[in-house]
Amino acid sequence: MNGKKIYIIIFIISITGLAIVQYQYLRIGLNLAKVQFNQKMGLTVNEIKNGLRQRNQLTFLLGKAITKDDSYFKLSIDSVHDASRYFMNDFLKDKLLQQGVKTEFTYTLHAKDSTDYLKSLKSYSDEDDLLKYSITLDGYLPLLVEKRLILELQFKNLNTYFLSQLNGLTIPSLLFIVVIIFVIIWVLKSFYWQKKLITITNEFINNMTHELKTPVFSIGIASKILQEKTNNENKELVNLIRNQVDKLKNQIDKVLELASIEGKKNFIEKKLIDFKPVLLNLIKDFEQLASLEHINFNSEVKDGNYMMNCNSYHIENAINSLLENAKKYTKGSIAITLLAYKADNILCISVKDNGIGISEEDQKKIFDKYFRVSSGDVHDVKGYGLGLNYVKRIVTLHKGKIIVKSSVGKGSEFIIKLPLHNYGNQ
Ligand code: ADP
Repeated sequence: MNGKKIYIIIFIISITGLAIVQYQYLRIGLNLAKVQFNQKMGLTVNEIKNGLRQRNQLTFLLGKAITKDDSYFKLSIDSVHDASRYFMNDFLKDKLLQQGVKTEFTYTLHAKDSTDYLKSLKSYSDEDDLLKYSITLDGYLPLLVEKRLILELQFKNLNTYFLSQLNGLTIPSLLFIVVIIFVIIWVLKSFYWQKKLITITNEFINNMTHELKTPVFSIGIASKILQEKTNNENKELVNLIRNQVDKLKNQIDKVLELASIEGKKNFIEKKLIDFKPVLLNLIKDFEQLASLEHINFNSEVKDGNYMMNCNSYHIENAINSLLENAKKYTKGSIAITLLAYKADNILCISVKDNGIGISEEDQKKIFDKYFRVSSGDVHDVKGYGLGLNYVKRIVTLHKGKIIVKSSVGKGSEFIIKLPLHNYGNQ
């Protein structure tokens, strides 16, 4: 499974998890709202019972309506009945509001033997999912009709009501989940877009470099032939061409080497060898160059053989890059020291110079691809910021480390630490 799929799966799992957690919180919230509603209804029921216990204007009117007694009011019994329905509705609404219950309701006033006396103007059908509260009345009204009177309050769709009470929680949490989804999709999209862009750029650079290789190679051969045939007058010019072609060839090789290890991601071909002879050979070559260019070069290779599972070609290139940098970034008389020794089954190769040094801030970035120190007059030295990135990659592919110690104006030391083979004659 590729990285992209893993990220997407993790993202979906996290968002689903978050939605489930939010849903559980919502359920808890709803249950709490129900408990709170029941508490409020307990208080309201008592208030209603108390309000209807004594003879007062409302109970007197209700009494006349339910006993169908039109002797007191100069109105038809139907009008008395209708009026009492309204007054009863207002009375109940008022009692509910006093406890903060603002939802719609219906009511019936009936006797235990199912005789209906009074109903609210609106009524719910029996199929509706209703929450009912029965209040057995005492006092004036039951005594009047000489029956047990029950006032039933009915509430419908309470979940919508509870949800409306939880709006302060549900809407923001839904909103935040949506925002998180948008942001993550946006980040993932731009991340993959950038990755694609980097891949395209790298491919372009690699292809370009490949294309350059052939003409540079041809110029190299032509200038070599020219160098042999040329007279003294033009020798300097031809030498200049050869030097520049060699530099260009080096840079091209670096880009291609980097591309070759990049393409293989975490794989590099390795062999179990003694690296010491390779290192001594490398030192011999550099000694020759150093004497030609008047560089003060010292080396010390200690502690027996260096058996390790490695790709000697790439490690050799890495050490050469460090030596080249030591030479490039030193002004005046150059002094370079190469030291190789073993410590706890680790091969340490240190390349030290007396050069311009690297500030602490830049030390964190010098291993990044294309990074070059931008301050001061460093840029009279040519380069593409690829060398150290290559060295670091090679060292990492060997499960090793690279350390830099440097101070501006005094010089730098790069130490490569590579794990040695852990048995055999070392
Ligand atoms: P390049 O030399 O092609 O610019 P590198 O990756 O080899 O690329 O080095 C990155 C940067 O690190 C260089 O541009 C230089 O500023 C700094 N640097 C590397 N080696 C040294 C050194 N020995 N002394 C001082 N600065 C160095």
